Amino acid sequence: MSMNSDIADLAEFLDAAERIVVFTGAGISTESGIPDFRSPGGIWTKMAPIEFQDFVSSAEMRKEAWRRRFAMEEMFATVTPNLGHKAVAELVRTGRASHVITQNIDNLHQDSGVPDERVIELHGNTRYAKCLDSGARAELPPIRSHFEKTGEPPDCQFCAGMLKTATISFGQSMPEIEMARAESATRACDLFLVLGSSLVVYPAAGFPLLAKRRGAKLVIVNREETPQDEVADLVLHTEIGPTLRGAVDRLKAG
Ligand SMILES: [Zn+2]
Repeated sequence: MSMNSDIADLAEFLDAAERIVVFTGAGISTESGIPDFRSPGGIWTKMAPIEFQDFVSSAEMRKEAWRRRFAMEEMFATVTPNLGHKAVAELVRTGRASHVITQNIDNLHQDSGVPDERVIELHGNTRYAKCLDSGARAELPPIRSHFEKTGEPPDCQFCAGMLKTATISFGQSMPEIEMARAESATRACDLFLVLGSSLVVYPAAGFPLLAKRRGAKLVIVNREETPQDEVADLVLHTEIGPTLRGAVDRLKAG
């Protein structure tokens, strides 16, 4: 299919919808230059991710986790939202999309102008840290300078608890509030738009199926095939940015 017919098809679904939920995965952020950790050749195929239990039980693992995180800081601190993120932000700003549910931890939806209360982060956020005991937020630069000076990550300044990036690690339970918000947003939408997720990581990948069961249309834009392509109403195996941008521009024109 040509790019133009992809754009026209996508625009038709967007235009017919009253209430869109956008669901994003690594594929939208690879277009900003963030590597997909899970993809073949990605970081996690070379270096096993640190599981939550190992993080809490081992000081060495905690140091290793922080070393890895700070090694990526140059990238996370300099990436910017791309065409796709900006088109999503426009769907929210114009009231067409109620929420953005994301598996990404890079904060790029907020950076593109989607208000915090419209973003639902299923796997947390790597741009700041949280205390595992009190839940207090802690910023990364002071953690980094403490780590570089002493070789140890600092404790929570309020309760001396353990600090960890505010991401959901393997082995860590899903965030209950975010899961509940994602479920209610999904139940209320009439179009569930998947952008750049391979839909293999559960429970996140259950949301498009829930939307379908509730009668919503399902549209998937992803470079590779997904296991849910066959239940989707429209599937586009293409780049997200130019396609979504083109479709959103048609809405304005129409
Ligand atoms: Zn604390």
